[in-house]
Amino acid sequence: MDISFSPEDEAFRAEVRAFLEANLTADLKAKTRAMTSVFLERPTAIAWQKILHTRGWVAPAWPVEYGGTGWTETQKYIFDIEIARAEAPPLIPMGLKMVAPVIMKFGRQDQKDYFLPRTLAGDMYWCQGYSEPGSGSDLASLKTRADSDGEDYVINGSKIWTTHAHYADWIFCLVRTDGSGKPQEGISFLLIDMKTPGISVRPLITMAGDHEVNQVFFDNVRVPKSNRIGEEGKGWTYAKYLLEFERGGSYSTRLKVALDSLRRIAGAETDGGQPLIEDPGFRAKIDAAEIDLLSLEMTEHRIMASLSKGGSPGPESSLLKTCGSETQQRITEIAVEAIAQWGTPFQRGEAAPTGNAPPVGPDYAARVVPHYLNTRAASIYGGSNEVQRNIMAKLVLGL
Ligand SMILES: Cc1cc2nc3c(=O)[nH]c(=O)nc-3n(C[C@H](O)[C@H](O)[C@H](O)COP(=O)(O)OP(=O)(O)OC[C@H]3O[C@@H](n4cnc5c(N)ncnc54)[C@H](O)[C@@H]3O)c2cc1C
Repeated sequence: MDISFSPEDEAFRAEVRAFLEANLTADLKAKTRAMTSVFLERPTAIAWQKILHTRGWVAPAWPVEYGGTGWTETQKYIFDIEIARAEAPPLIPMGLKMVAPVIMKFGRQDQKDYFLPRTLAGDMYWCQGYSEPGSGSDLASLKTRADSDGEDYVINGSKIWTTHAHYADWIFCLVRTDGSGKPQEGISFLLIDMKTPGISVRPLITMAGDHEVNQVFFDNVRVPKSNRIGEEGKGWTYAKYLLEFERGGSYSTRLKVALDSLRRIAGAETDGGQPLIEDPGFRAKIDAAEIDLLSLEMTEHRIMASLSKGGSPGPESSLLKTCGSETQQRITEIAVEAIAQWGTPFQRGEAAPTGNAPPVGPDYAARVVPHYLNTRAASIYGGSNEVQRNIMAKLVLGL
């Protein structure tokens, strides 16, 4: 991939900037800047998705026939940079980046016609029902049962760590349709309306104080068999395909913004009267994080270049997930070190996007610890980094 920008690319960049200038409201920017967790709450994220939708820019990675933009990889990259730089809300990936590619590749035409346009428009909000109590890394051991009953399945069991289940209209779920053979062979992939009787959602509050994840319970939930993706018992294949998209994608554009913010904090905080950014030892930590970030960016370009020739992300997505999440965690760790004593007061309300109490200490400090705490989960969700290293050892290094 050629990453030097041609005059056409620069014209495209100007077009994106003009769009952001005209459409990204001060309120949306402020809410994004105040984020301490992975995603914004549904109303904010969807408000921005609807604005992008009017311009046809919600899903640059989708094929044009389903509403993608048809941009080159360079244009997609420019768009990502400009979106991050302008502090636009991140879009919620469970529909757009996770289940949609599975529906496109393995779904029936009527499923594509129903689910894809609604997901693109922001009218259908998804959550992911993979993990269960006792089945996380060892996902194939999952126990949520789908028993056949005429035209329906009857679902019983529970899913856990389900991000934004409290907002979701639909859940894509791995269920056990056969318990007799190899565990992977008895799994099916179902799309379930969250309003179906028998589904309940219980909040799980994280150590950062966020309500992001939940436990979802299924008590005799009837789901039409027509909501199954592909063949019965082949869900494991579809589930793994989805994970390549969940783990892949670009980390570097938003991490650059985080690194700039860290530099500003280190410029404002002092040690013995000297700005931290001028302390060679402290600067070396920031520089080391930047080197990791730049090598991550180059790897992303390499993977994007091969994606532009067609194909799915493959096991390289495990590499991006591991390096991206660890660099992200490192930046938040240095930020906590930089704010020193301002990290001690508990000021969750001030840090939240809707908080209105004045923060203790400088305003940039209030978000640092909640963000640091939230980021601890980055090396767990999407499959833990230990598991990603196992995948790389096997599939990339051939060990
Ligand atoms: C914030 C957050 C959001 C999440 N959102 C969702 C969601 O929306 N939907 C969903 O389905 N799931 C979600 N998850 C669940 C996530 O995918 C699992 O937590 C993850 O796969 C790990 O599984 P586990 O928690 O059961 O830990 P376990 O699998 O019990 O692992 C415990 C520890 O053992 C290590 N370990 C396990 N197996 C191996 C191995 N073979 N080799 C080396 N080390 C190993 C792990 O790395 C980990 O450190 C979320 C999790 C978090 C924290």
